[in-house]
Formats: sequence, C-alpha cells, structure tokens
Amino acid sequence: MIKHFVVFLVIVCQLLFNIIENDNDGLMHLHMLDVGQGDAFLLQTVDKKYVLIDGGPSSNLIDVMADYMPFWQNRLDLVIATHGDSDHIGGLVELSERYDIEAFIYNGESKNTLIFEELMKNISFDGVDISIAQSGEEIRVGCCMEIDILWPGSINIEDSNDRSVSIIAKYQDFEIYMAGDLGYKYEEKITNNLGVDIEVMKISHHGSRTSTSTKVVDNIRPQITLISAGKDNKFGHPHREVLDLLDKNNIIQYRTDIQGTVSIKSDGSDYVVDIEKDNK
Ligand SMILES: [Zn+2]
Repeated sequence: MIKHFVVFLVIVCQLLFNIIENDNDGLMHLHMLDVGQGDAFLLQTVDKKYVLIDGGPSSNLIDVMADYMPFWQNRLDLVIATHGDSDHIGGLVELSERYDIEAFIYNGESKNTLIFEELMKNISFDGVDISIAQSGEEIRVGCCMEIDILWPGSINIEDSNDRSVSIIAKYQDFEIYMAGDLGYKYEEKITNNLGVDIEVMKISHHGSRTSTSTKVVDNIRPQITLISAGKDNKFGHPHREVLDLLDKNNIIQYRTDIQGTVSIKSDGSDYVVDIEKDNK
C-alpha cells in the first residue's frame, strides 16, 4: 500500500515538475491541438499570456487544452474565432463557461446557429471585451507578442470561410501565418508582398484544395506547415493536391490526424517541434 502511494506521489511530482518547467522556460509556445476535424491553436507568450485561436468542434477542447496549460490557469487573455463554423467555435461555448476570457475577436458575422448565439450570449453576459477584426490592425499581447490582422477586409463576401480572420503572429523573428478556412483567392491577395519571413504556415481549411495554391506557397515560403484535420474525416482532408504541392516544394508537414497535438517552442529565432504521437 505504502509502495503504491509512493509511486503515485512520484508520478504526481513528475507531472507537476513538467508543467512548471514548461511554464517557466522563457520560450513562446504554439500548440496545434488535436481536436479532431476542426481548428484550435493555443499560443503561450514568454510572459505567460494565453491566446486561443479557434475552439475546435466540441467541448473535448477543454480536456485537450488542459494538457498544455497549468491546471491553475483559468484565464485566456485573448480568444480569436476566425469564423463562425461549428468546427471552429464548437468548443468555445463550454470554454466561455469554464474560463475567464479577457478579450474576444471575431469577423463580425452573425451566424444563425445555436452555438454562435450561445457563445455570444455567454461572453456578452461576462463583460468580455468583444471586437471585430480589422485588417491592418496590430495587437500586442503581453510584452513581446504581436498579432497583425491581415483579413477580413470586406463584409460583402458570401462564403463564411472567405471571411476568416487571418493573422500573422510574431515573436521577435519567429512568425506564424494562420488564416482559418480562407480560400486561396483571398490568401493570394493577403500574402502578396507580405515582406516578412514566415517560419510556420497553418494550412488553411484543413488542407482543402480550395485553399493553398502554388502562388500562396510562393508568397509565403514557409519552413514548416501545420495541418489540423480529423482522422478519416468525411471531407477527405487534407486533399492530395495540397500535400503534393507541399512535397514538391520540400516543405515539412505536421498533421493532427497522424501525429496528434503538435507543439512548437521558440526563443524568437530558433524553434523546435514536438509531436504527441510518433507514427514511424
Ligand atoms: Zn473549418
């Protein structure tokens, strides 16, 4: 009995040590959370501000996220909902009930769905600072993270995907491009003459062939790409054409459907990538 208790205690201490060590390493962290068919990205700044970009399709977001945040942390400094589709905001309703959200940014579109209405009701009731993304806006998070809003530009676009809030997150010389489910026509437009050296590109729309054209890849020239898609999803994401395009350009791909949650940490110039499942 005592032996079991000691083993249990050692495991708990090790877990605690890992969480505290991760929390205090002075690096920026980005986690592409494995939430199935949807998007959810958690950013942790060097001064421990937390930003969530999209909330996946369901409330399993909370469980997945909990592995990458200290258990005492119940506050998110910023939540960005790229657009109102359920595979991006499905987990945000429960999140808004369990976490203190400081600020919320979305594309301004009112979705006529129960999830969207509940989410907006919750965050309005809690007095969250709600704003609509404006292209050209620069948002500072904590001491050293900058989020540049690239899109949406016009509100007269019919397809909700094409109104995805699109950003570049910067920590010193380390830059990440994320554009929700934006189609390639608008991706080409916003990545033209970007003038920044992007290390990490989140592949839009879970690797759908409706995003990520040759021109987009040429404009961005990322070192690595992140693809969030559910295993054996009904859309066939990521599509072969997109994977072939990335292969042809020798660009490394990380995928939640194969590798689970993918984590990147950076000191502002170099970075390392960690995967949850090694499928070699
Ligand atoms: Zn989506």
